[in-house]
This record gives sequence, structure tokens and C-alpha cells, in this order.
Amino acid sequence: MFTTQANQTPPVGRFAPTPSGFIHLGNVFCSLLAWLYAKSAGGSIVLRIEDLDPQRCLRQNADALAHELEWLGLTWDAGAYIGSDSVKSERYFQSQRSDIYAEYFAQLETQGLVYPCFCSRSELHAAEAPHLSDGRVLYAGTCRDLTPAQREAKALVRRPAYRLQVTDVPISFTDAHYGPQSYRLTEESGDFIIRRSDGVYAYQLAVTIDDALMGITQVVRGSDLLSSTPLQLYIYHLLGFTPPSFAHIPLLTDASGRRLSKRDGDLEIATLRKHYDSPEPIIGLLAYLAGQLERPEPIAAADLLPIFDPQKIPTTNIVVPELKLI
Ligand code: GLU
Repeated sequence: MFTTQANQTPPVGRFAPTPSGFIHLGNVFCSLLAWLYAKSAGGSIVLRIEDLDPQRCLRQNADALAHELEWLGLTWDAGAYIGSDSVKSERYFQSQRSDIYAEYFAQLETQGLVYPCFCSRSELHAAEAPHLSDGRVLYAGTCRDLTPAQREAKALVRRPAYRLQVTDVPISFTDAHYGPQSYRLTEESGDFIIRRSDGVYAYQLAVTIDDALMGITQVVRGSDLLSSTPLQLYIYHLLGFTPPSFAHIPLLTDASGRRLSKRDGDLEIATLRKHYDSPEPIIGLLAYLAGQLERPEPIAAADLLPIFDPQKIPTTNIVVPELKLI
């Protein structure tokens, strides 16, 4: 029932960073591969800043990450920080797009698929709630069938989040890197949140609308988002959008297998930049980790284009060797 679009030439890929901290090696790994996928096929890249959460996302982090990407040679062709038209650039910041999300949210409401959910965090995570093997909670549908009177009464004491009702049909797609995938949303997430109780539209809704409206035909991102893809394909289907192709890529981890995060200060690009002076050693290390070079040796991103082979990217997570930054 759900199929992804065949790879289009030339593809339109994207960088979609969340500016909740400084850019680190893991973010650049993902950006480098998105860039190589698109550019090696003669395509282009859009930069979209995913600053939906005003508590976590700072404009200065977005400014810094645009500078770092540029310095690394990972250029983009459309989107934020392009040209002199700042109004146009602003439209590639998710924080400036709530009016658009509201419009599509209303379309889903008209389809009778959206309902308010008053469950508290502790209710959702209660021991008796159905848990998935990875620790996530499957929403049990608690608020789906509340009567209008019950909703009114609950709204007096709590602002609701809004959930999208899912149906029990298999959602299949072929990931360019991980192959055929099949999910049932009733087993994967249950009805999921598309607008938070503080009024912020949820990632799943925003990213789908943005990728569709920005003409993205190729999504390359971390494998942690593989299980979000069926949720997004469901929204593509409901809104009548054509989905892009998806390639999920392995995550970078530290020696203990923990995913690199904003806590790994040493692996922030700003730190690496001070140490190395030029982007080539960083790009070379990432290209090596991505299976594109025999050894980590300095190279410019553009020089990887002729040799880029997505088949060589590992499928398991990749341990970043300890860097001696003395
Ligand atoms: N904004 C997300 C992140 O920085 C990426 C979302 C996506 O690629 O769909 O992890």
C-alpha cells in the first residue's frame, strides 16, 4: 500500500540539523553522506534548520553550524543562510513554519484522525503500559474514545497533546541502505503525537510536510530514525504527498557503544577545527569510517565524489577511534 518513490535524477537531498548544541562528528558524518549521495548523482542539497523546540534550540547554534558546514566544504544550494533575502531564508527554519504545519494539521483533523490526549508523562510511562523491546512505549489508545463531555472536563485541568490515529495496515518500503522494511504502526507506536501540549508541532509532522513542500526526493539520515519512517510514510499517504527515497546510515559511537552526543565535547567540530586547522583530516576520518577510504587520510569532500560508493558504508554502528588532540 505504501511505496517509496524510485530514486530520481538528479536527487534533491537535505541537511536537517537540530541546533540544540554544537555540531559534532556524528552530525557531520550524516551531512557528509547526505551530501555525497546527492552530489555524486548530480543533485542538490537544501539546508533546513529543525529548531522546532524553542527550549532546546538556539539561533546562535544554527549560525555556528552553518559556518562549520561551509568550512567543511559541505555546501548547500537552497534553504537557510542562502542569498541576501533573509525572509526567504527564515522559511527554512522550522520555528518559522507553524502556520504551514497548522494548515496540514487541520487537514488531518478534517479526516477525523486527530484527537486530544490528556495523558500525563507518568501515565504514559506507567509500568503497566505496553513497552516495546527498545524501551519505547506503545500508546494504548487511552484518550481515543473519550466523549466530548469527558474531553471538556479534562481540558479544564490539562492542555492536551494531539495524536494521529493509525490504522492496522502494513507499511512497507525499501531503504536504500538497509533493504526492505515492513512495519505495523499499531505495533510500532500506536496513535502518535503530532502536536505537543505546549502547542509545538511534533517532529514527525513537521519533517514530513517540510520534506514534501521543499521538494526533497532523497532523505539520508541516521539509522535511529529508521523506525520513524513508517510514521512519516503514513502522513505522506494521508496528505497525498509523494514520499522521497530513504537511506538510513549507521550511527557513530564511542568505544563503549554509546552514540556520540553533545556531551562528547572533544568531538565538537569547533574543537577539531582548532586542532586541525583544515577540514581535510576530519573529512578523511569520516570517509574512512564510512568505508570510502582504506585509511584515514586528509581529503576534501569534493574529492570523494568520484569514488563515493554507498555499498561500502557499513550497516552496523561505527566506533570512532580515540583522537589525540594535544
Ligand atoms: N533534525 C534531526 C536531527 O538532527 C534529523 C531529522 C531527519 O533527518 O529526519 O537528528
